[in-house]
Amino acid sequence: MNESNLSVLITEGEIKSRILELGGELTKRFKNEKDVIAVCVLKGSMMFYSDMIRTMNVDLQCEFLGVSSYNGTTQSSGEVKLTLDLSTPVEGKHVILFEDIVDTGLTMNYMKKNLSSRNPKSLTTVTLLFKPDALKTECQLDYVGFKIPNDFVVGYGLDYQGFYRNLPYIAQVFNLN
Ligand code: 5GP
Repeated sequence: MNESNLSVLITEGEIKSRILELGGELTKRFKNEKDVIAVCVLKGSMMFYSDMIRTMNVDLQCEFLGVSSYNGTTQSSGEVKLTLDLSTPVEGKHVILFEDIVDTGLTMNYMKKNLSSRNPKSLTTVTLLFKPDALKTECQLDYVGFKIPNDFVVGYGLDYQGFYRNLPYIAQVFNLN
């Protein structure tokens, strides 16, 4: 893997300690609740999700949602599509949605609208990364790992054309293409 065009933005250690903090907050919020469903947004959230749920001392079930909006480029197409749906109804349940990054906000708003229409008891959003300067629409978020500048990033689940997901840190990429 060519790492020469990468600049580390968030180290593995910084990710770990932020996840411990977020896990503690979510444990406090949900430890006395029944019917908690933790939803992983594929593919980008896979690492964040699997690390988060292991820090949460909560009885929960795991579900997976697939959405696509980028078509392998670094620019959002603005068109969000559901590519994989949950395998169970969430009506009357506490849904916690784990997303890797909120950029324009379009994908998060699409998922919030879609899941809310299924009448969950509550819907909580957790995103590892948030680019406030890239927002194109108002987007309310409950838990944010890190606010970052409006640059394209890879690693820790996030890809560029399918690669870099297995880096243990988050990096900015230079000289794409
Ligand atoms: P939004 O709809 O907020 O513009 O984009 C959300 C989705 O775009 C994320 O789930 C992620 O898949 C992708 N995305 C947005 N910004 C980045 C980025 O900096 N790097 C990567 N790898 N994906 C991004």
